[in-house]
Amino acid sequence: MRYAETGFNLEIDLSRGSIDKVPTDPRVTELHLGGLGTNAKILWDRVPPETAPFSEDNLLIFGTGLLCGTPAIGCNRTILSTISPQTLLMAFSMMGGFWAPELKYAGYDKVIVRGRSPDLVYLWIHNDTIEIRDASHLRGKGAVETSELIRRELKEPGAQVSAIGLAGENRVYFASVEQGRSSASRGGIGAVMGDKGLKAIAVRGTNDIHVARPDQFMDCCNQVLEYIQFRAENPIQGVPPILAGLGSPQEMAIHDEEWHTTNFAWGNARHRLKDYWTEEVEKKWTESLESVRKRFISCYNCPLKCGATIKAPGLPTYMMKCYSKLTYTMASMTDLDFGFKIAQRATEYGVDAFSAPQVMAFAVELYEAGILTDRDMAGMPSDNEGRFIWLLDRIVRREGIGDVLADGTHWAARRIGRGSEAYAHNNIKRHEQLPLKLGMLNPIYFLMYCTGEKMNITQIEGQFPQAPFAKREDREAFVKDWIQVPNEKFKQYFVDWEPRGENSIPFYPSIEATCEIVDWQEKMHYIDDTLGICAGLSSFPLKPPYHIHNLPALISSATGVEMDEAALSQVAKRNRTLVRSVNIARGMRRKDEKPPENHWKKRFPELESKLLDAYYQFKGWNRQGIPTRESLEELSLDYVVQEFLNMGIFDDTDGTPSKDIPSKE
Ligand code: SF4
Repeated sequence: MRYAETGFNLEIDLSRGSIDKVPTDPRVTELHLGGLGTNAKILWDRVPPETAPFSEDNLLIFGTGLLCGTPAIGCNRTILSTISPQTLLMAFSMMGGFWAPELKYAGYDKVIVRGRSPDLVYLWIHNDTIEIRDASHLRGKGAVETSELIRRELKEPGAQVSAIGLAGENRVYFASVEQGRSSASRGGIGAVMGDKGLKAIAVRGTNDIHVARPDQFMDCCNQVLEYIQFRAENPIQGVPPILAGLGSPQEMAIHDEEWHTTNFAWGNARHRLKDYWTEEVEKKWTESLESVRKRFISCYNCPLKCGATIKAPGLPTYMMKCYSKLTYTMASMTDLDFGFKIAQRATEYGVDAFSAPQVMAFAVELYEAGILTDRDMAGMPSDNEGRFIWLLDRIVRREGIGDVLADGTHWAARRIGRGSEAYAHNNIKRHEQLPLKLGMLNPIYFLMYCTGEKMNITQIEGQFPQAPFAKREDREAFVKDWIQVPNEKFKQYFVDWEPRGENSIPFYPSIEATCEIVDWQEKMHYIDDTLGICAGLSSFPLKPPYHIHNLPALISSATGVEMDEAALSQVAKRNRTLVRSVNIARGMRRKDEKPPENHWKKRFPELESKLLDAYYQFKGWNRQGIPTRESLEELSLDYVVQEFLNMGIFDDTDGTPSKDIPSKE
């Protein structure tokens, strides 16, 4: 018997119209566990580096986390992986909600889609009954609307549906896959789904998932629940409210947005509005939020309720996605009422709420700079709210200038030219990053921004506080019950971290300590994405209920695969290295690993170079960021060694890709 996992994947070829239930190899589970790890293995094995995102040979993988469908608290993530049209690298984006557990109960760990359907279709998975169904009547429908229509058509109110909107159908490079209570937004995964002619996947499952040692497993789950309760009663002291509790990211419950509105850039990420947050704004925003927020909601098997349903006047109800509450508001330099209004439209269209607002703000800035003209923008209203709605409508339909902007700021700037590249200033590896413009270089964030292959800084950070507390005694108090640290020296790193002076950024933490901290933070994210645990309960917040010391027992008791901290760390490292190997084979090198020039005002080129050198070495990568032969062999990735030898990649020292990055089509 297989424990925690079902042991079967569904293979769908939309070109041939075939459906196959394929048993998986338990030895691969032992090496990679599941979720992101096994997704990366499949992409490595079956999608050659020359495969373009919009190719029938590109795969779109809906992979459940290994522990999804078990009683593990907050374990509900589907990890969607493919080759991104935006970055031309591997994209992996997580969605919560209820879809992953439902797929496990239907009897499958992953749905792997290849090919391209000539007509728009959707997939209906109901235990062993699987159909590819006509979706022509759903063309142009909103993503949330589609889910509802499919549930009615199937007469299955309990079906969980992942769907794309108009943006995915029109292959907008930042199109998302929406799931009603969550979405997989980064990397243009919805565009690949649209390219395949797949409007939605509906799932209903009624089978059981078995765990290997139920008593021990339930003990682990209960301890996690107890700790969640403890943290609810004991918020972290000395940090802004948004960082004091658990969840992802809890903002629908709080009104104090001083931290985001003060520290994050507005418009096209040029500047911050340091004095924006006043009592008057707080009162107004509180009224706005209270008037539209209908109820708090959770994902599958999670007590936190950090999402909320929103009903803006005259608009259908929708769920506000992570951080979307502020992205449209701040990009359009408007207020919260408008943010709630446009987010509903954007959710139905199915776009990423990180990229879409930045792309629209970029267009407005180009227009104001005279680079885009009245001819490009014929009919655009003069007010910011009107402009944003106008732009969004055109982008998702790829109409006029919308067709150019639909490729995201990096590719749009290349098409527009005339100096517009300077306005696409917030990108890393061709995708829009979180719009922050800060003062002093932070060495921890520098390495995370450079080397992260998840497309969002909030999906890399966590665990270690973002800034030192002002007083040493507060730092000492913080570390007293810091059980999550891998070992005691991390406590000392924090206690000795001063806001000013010798032990302050950019030269503190030391290069060595910075490497260890970044590696710890990233490792926890890779573990979550393998198991399907929500980062809001694990890798993202301070002092989470899941950590490196209690996860091995949870995994062992669920799966029967014996695991300790060292073995789990090795799996995380293997998965992380395999993701990097996919991208190295696709041409990614050191030259691609740099934060936006203006991300920090004060930069330190010599220190930055040393940090990158040291971190590459720490990770077992060479000076180009390529995993070395020795480190690959140590991780049982000998097949990567062979491929790198065939491609001449180990000889590559000057940063020039051995093979050209494939084109987008
Ligand atoms: S913490 Fe929030 S986002 Fe995460 S599983 Fe729970 S309800 Fe969902």
